[in-house]
Amino acid sequence: MIRLGDESMYQLKDVNGKKVFIVESHHHALLPWSHIKREVDGHLILISLDHHTDCMPAFNAHRCIQSKSDDVKYEQMLDSLLSDFNYRDDGSVIRAINKLRYDEQIHTAILGGIFTHSFSINYSDQTPSIEERMHQNLISIQFRRMLDEGIPLKEIPKFKGPYTYEKPRNGMFTIASDCYLGCNKMPHDDECLIRLYADAIESDFLNYQLAVVSQMSETSGLGAFKQSQYVLDIDLDYFHSDESIKPKDSKTFNSLIRNAQALTVAMERGCVETLKLEGEQIDSEILLVQLLDHIHNATT
Ligand SMILES: [Zn+2]
Repeated sequence: MIRLGDESMYQLKDVNGKKVFIVESHHHALLPWSHIKREVDGHLILISLDHHTDCMPAFNAHRCIQSKSDDVKYEQMLDSLLSDFNYRDDGSVIRAINKLRYDEQIHTAILGGIFTHSFSINYSDQTPSIEERMHQNLISIQFRRMLDEGIPLKEIPKFKGPYTYEKPRNGMFTIASDCYLGCNKMPHDDECLIRLYADAIESDFLNYQLAVVSQMSETSGLGAFKQSQYVLDIDLDYFHSDESIKPKDSKTFNSLIRNAQALTVAMERGCVETLKLEGEQIDSEILLVQLLDHIHNATT
């Protein structure tokens, strides 16, 4: 049970002046995010590297249980939960954390005024562009016509970009690459995954993901990503192999670290254990030591 003022919710390391907050469970990051926000003037955004998107609605599980899945009550509960949340008050933040499950912390932080929006670089989901959504709609219309009127399907050419985006209503953008850069295999297979995970923090791969982030930020009217103040948040389950935390070129990762206001790291020991590739010897402790080395190198 977490008590008021319990400092064990995170461990704070100072690496060459860069603050690194280490939490066990990812949703506990709401406390360090609150502390970081208090020190920052102006807008703050979140850049997260995580296997998962962690984009569940704020207090979802708590509201589902308490409202007994009554939709009206579920919606109404959010206002009172948020009115009790103030990122300047540790007590209220800890009360909120006690009502959160994993995956609900980012939306809570956005609704609670810590972040204006977030970008989750992950392995499962990407926010579609306006053009991709239109393409999907045209396909759905064709399917309906085929089923209802027997009109045969026609190929609809895919839009080749550049893509434009809208800020998602929940404020959370997700970015995920189908495979490692340049892979032409169809379908992608286990060998693809090994290479994709190995590239987790390689400069080329991160540059590609960050170009999507920039495109999302600029075309949705949120301004240039390069000028944004951000917290770099890393869930250790983003790393699936020893190779994935040992990039050949760490220039981009280092600059992502250097330009962050502060970092949060989630140990998530169970997820690391479950998601690591077969035969890998990594665990959260080993990954943390190597990540702290990267932070040290980036800030020296
Ligand atoms: Zn592939």
